[in-house]
Amino acid sequence: MHHTETNLIEINNKIKNKINSLSLDQYNPKVIAVSKTFKERDILPLLDYGHCDFGENKVQEALLKWPNLKEKYKNVKLHMLGKLQTNKAKFAVEIFDYIHSLDSLKLANKLANEIHKKDKKVKMFIQINLGGEKQKSGIEPNDLETFYTSCLSLKLDIVGTMCIPPDNQDPKYFFKELLNLNNKIKLPEISMGMTNDYLEALEFRSTYLRIGTGIFGKRTN
Ligand SMILES: *Cc1c(COP(=O)(O)O)cnc(C)c1O
Repeated sequence: MHHTETNLIEINNKIKNKINSLSLDQYNPKVIAVSKTFKERDILPLLDYGHCDFGENKVQEALLKWPNLKEKYKNVKLHMLGKLQTNKAKFAVEIFDYIHSLDSLKLANKLANEIHKKDKKVKMFIQINLGGEKQKSGIEPNDLETFYTSCLSLKLDIVGTMCIPPDNQDPKYFFKELLNLNNKIKLPEISMGMTNDYLEALEFRSTYLRIGTGIFGKRTN
């Protein structure tokens, strides 16, 4: 068995055990295998295993890697996780099924234009900057409700919220914060939890775990 498949199976087991220990039923979070920088030979074993959700953080890289794979594996859902420049919105809606990094009104407008022009179905997460970090993207928590209303009037299909907690701080504080914000606007999905903290994210009802290193190994670039 290829190491990416072994890793994924192990992670799925840990998730199952964690959910059992939390005594939650009817809770089926999804794992997004974050394949950025990795090549087909590491991705194919997961596709053949039947895994469906994959994540990338660059439009250009996704366009090089995924059109053929999506043609062959029809159930694949591709998730855009990285910062999306407005001039790439056009290409992003061609290849991605989900965009987790909706972070400005300008981008929302651009995406709405492209989606309606091409009659695409793209689900979106509003990225929230919980740590108030200048270098990170995202909507300020206080602006969430207004921003969400604007997205609805643009007829965007907003399914949830997303965060990347600051490094070197307890992620639980931020996971709890995002769960609260998400409940305020009553969205079904929450995108949080990465290789180092996905088990903690389950305690706060994450529905999409974004796991790269834990499945594919260390990234070299
Ligand atoms: C790369 C990336 C991940 C995966 O990170 P790992 O620590 O390798 O699991 C998750 N979310 C986003 C937004 C990323 O860019």
